[in-house]
Amino acid sequence: MQKVILKKGKEFPILQKHHWIFSGAVERLPQFEDGDILEVYSSSNRFLGLGYFNKKSQIVGRMLTFNKTNPVTAIRSNIVSAIKLREKLFNSNSQKKETNCFRLINSEGDSIPGLTIDNYNGILVMQISTLGIELLKEEIVHILAEEFNPKGIYEKSSMPSRKQEGLDNFEGILYNHDADYTNVEVLENGVKFRVNIEKGHKTGFYLDQREMRNLIGSMAKDRKVLNCFSYTGGFSIYAALNGATEVTSVDLSSEVIKEAEVNFKLNTIDPKKHRFVAQDVFEFLKNETINYDIVILDPPAFAKKKDDYARACNAYGQINRLAFKKMPKGSFLLTCSCSYHVDEESFRKVIFRAAHEAERNVRILETHRHAMDHPLNIFNPEANYLKSLLLYVE
Ligand code: SAH
Repeated sequence: MQKVILKKGKEFPILQKHHWIFSGAVERLPQFEDGDILEVYSSSNRFLGLGYFNKKSQIVGRMLTFNKTNPVTAIRSNIVSAIKLREKLFNSNSQKKETNCFRLINSEGDSIPGLTIDNYNGILVMQISTLGIELLKEEIVHILAEEFNPKGIYEKSSMPSRKQEGLDNFEGILYNHDADYTNVEVLENGVKFRVNIEKGHKTGFYLDQREMRNLIGSMAKDRKVLNCFSYTGGFSIYAALNGATEVTSVDLSSEVIKEAEVNFKLNTIDPKKHRFVAQDVFEFLKNETINYDIVILDPPAFAKKKDDYARACNAYGQINRLAFKKMPKGSFLLTCSCSYHVDEESFRKVIFRAAHEAERNVRILETHRHAMDHPLNIFNPEANYLKSLLLYVE
């Protein structure tokens, strides 16, 4: 196999099991085809492992194994260990409320850079972001069929980063054409949701907010709840099931608002007792009286790329300021950002500034990142995109 030699000192991140090799860290690349798996060596000829390489990407190499294991064997063993972790998280005897939808593979967090897989009650949804993994797709589907025994596998690889890798977007069935991919019923902490894999956002559902939805559920009894950017009703249903007096769900898309009503019925909650609004949240907050005990702001990523940073901070500031201005004294705000380019500290500053401008006294009760089935490689904290703050507003 061909050898990649790193520059002096650039082996340290790899020795710490950071998967990425930036082009600037490489002393010498051999002749190779993009997507090839190559051996990686330090400048003093120490073997570091095997990774796939792509000259088109600034992250020229991504490690698949840190020893001499065959890369496909390494992927299999990482998939097996990812399945084991999820069994520990969701199948423990004390967990009476069943969860059968979760992230099974979280890219670097499960030691398989470029691969994300979500499980929806046995239907796996795969996202491939790199050429190296694209070339291993057949093997990966084969491993999943053997180790997980899924009802079906669907690929939903539509992301801007694929372009840099020289890949077109792709969506379609990879395994079992007979399975239903538009109407998958899942359980999350015992709560039912209908997920449309083909049409839904991301892989179908926002699995990363599971723990925050539970938190809102635990606080909702006898309270009036406003769920902004509700999508298919995640937070709303937890609140309604746990005794909220009235839940208002607001989302720009009338399609997802309809799905939210379907999900209310699925959980035998009468949607007529609650409110569903297909509207821009900015308009809603401007025009309505916000007399709610709990408000949730979980907007889409306002910063999709680095250049969006200032505009995104502005938008976060604006919606939070609008909410702070109108929320009653002694109410709770769960405010979130899933923009990878707006880090936690910047997000906090934006929120505190918004509170200051709205002349409200605000305290942090809880901070949170993604749910536990989204593990992070501790040497690769770059994958930390979601942050949530639960605030008490006076
Ligand atoms: N909290 C949700 C996920 C929110 S995703 C959950 O737990 O499942 C963000 C949602 O915001 C999407 O459904 C999108 O349709 C909606 N959205 C985007 N821009 C919006 C806007 N300006 N006003 C209202 N909704 C918007």
